Amino acid sequence: MGYRKMQNSIQKLNQTLERMNLVSVQAEARMLLEWITQKPYSLLQLEPGFVLPPDQQARLDLALERRKTGEPLQLIMGVAHFYGLELEVCAGVLVPRPETEVLVWESLARLETSPTTHNPKILDLCTGSGAIALALKSESSALEVWGSDLDDLALELAGRNSQKLNLEVHWCKSDLLDQITGKFSAIICNPPYLPLADRQNRPPELEHEPDRALYSGTDGLELARRLLEQAGDFLTPSGFLALELDPRNVRVLEILALEGGWQSQVVCDLVGRERFLFLERKI
Ligand code: GLN
Repeated sequence: MGYRKMQNSIQKLNQTLERMNLVSVQAEARMLLEWITQKPYSLLQLEPGFVLPPDQQARLDLALERRKTGEPLQLIMGVAHFYGLELEVCAGVLVPRPETEVLVWESLARLETSPTTHNPKILDLCTGSGAIALALKSESSALEVWGSDLDDLALELAGRNSQKLNLEVHWCKSDLLDQITGKFSAIICNPPYLPLADRQNRPPELEHEPDRALYSGTDGLELARRLLEQAGDFLTPSGFLALELDPRNVRVLEILALEGGWQSQVVCDLVGRERFLFLERKI
């Protein structure tokens, strides 16, 4: 009897999420239940006769109402996971995406093999929640990590995240490199990069995130082009610029970079789309 109740409780949530046509029903059900109960899902599955207490059921119902409008689960929970870190997220700042983990991973691999690296100085431009900067610092404490953003709300959030995680990052406010001084072994940037026209047919999730973190002019390259012009002066001789871009634009920016005297390497995301551009000055 208890077993049937437990099944019904979890199945009920699964059925509700399935009716919303979500891509990852199982994963969302697990995350929601763990968040509401603060217990591991595997334990909930084992608990005979598992039924949410009324206060937790009420919170779950509220969360489901918000999810129905397309609000991302991370914003509802106020938490996102990135590179093994639990980050606070909030409305008004881009939710870190799993594909950006590849940017961190690939950048760390390059820093490890880079010739000049004694406590290298790294800059995460357009840091948002601080995800890239914090992931880099968490992986390699010898890195001197800087994180910048134009947006005060983002910098406040990034600062809170670094305090909670006890990871030291130097935060500063800057419009791209305008307020930055010094030279870096790597400048890593996930800028807003969607073409403005994409706003017309955007998925409901993107309606809950700030336009200024998503769109960058008619072709999506306004910021990336500006950064390409500025970045050379802020890199050490063997330093690199790493960018996440829309797959439609990676080769477009690559051509500009090659014309501007950079060496380039294109890297794919986890589903094989050309998504990242790694650039070094030709010596
Ligand atoms: N990758 C994001 C999306 O497609 C866009 C993020 C960005 O513009 N940096 O939703």
